[in-house]
Amino acid sequence: MLWLEFCNLFFKPYKKHLLSRCYFCQVRLIMQFQNQEESKGLGSDYIYIDKSPHGSGIFTRKNIKKGELIFSFTGNFISFSDCVALGPGEAYTIQVDTIRYLQPLSPGRYINHSCDPNCGITGELYLVALKGIDACKELTFDYSTTMLERYWEMDCGCGSENCRSKIMDFDTLPANRQAYYINHGVVQPFILEWMEKRGKHSMEN
Ligand SMILES: [Zn+2]
Repeated sequence: MLWLEFCNLFFKPYKKHLLSRCYFCQVRLIMQFQNQEESKGLGSDYIYIDKSPHGSGIFTRKNIKKGELIFSFTGNFISFSDCVALGPGEAYTIQVDTIRYLQPLSPGRYINHSCDPNCGITGELYLVALKGIDACKELTFDYSTTMLERYWEMDCGCGSENCRSKIMDFDTLPANRQAYYINHGVVQPFILEWMEKRGKHSMEN
């Protein structure tokens, strides 16, 4: 109990920066993520935000080549508990580590899920094109490529032939789908690390 009070005392000044954990536990991460870079990529000549069947979405103005860096995600890093406290707003966050989530600013905030996506997110948090994308198409990525938390799930009606109906953690994907995303470099590194170790450890350990 005393330790918890001690943690809260030192945590307070840092809450706005990152995590609902104590200063001493998280100081390294706080230092690492206080500053956000300016978004890189193609910019508004190529993409715009508009209404989509799922609220708002990101659309292309021009053709985009396979492998192109479309934009980099920027925003604030928050903890799992802060993420849960967002309620329905949790759907806008992207898990980037076992305890960290990005709350993306525009345009990243508006990207929707597809079970047959035309984009993916790299470990550097760049949105890249998985295939050539024509103008006037919505950009999507597979939410499961950034998910390994055993908490949030989403019913899916993306309309693709291979729609999974329910979006869950990455390790629940069919093996060929996992391999496709891994081979294209669009699975978050913390998920790859966990999968490498899972012979020895489990999510509960
Ligand atoms: Zn789907």
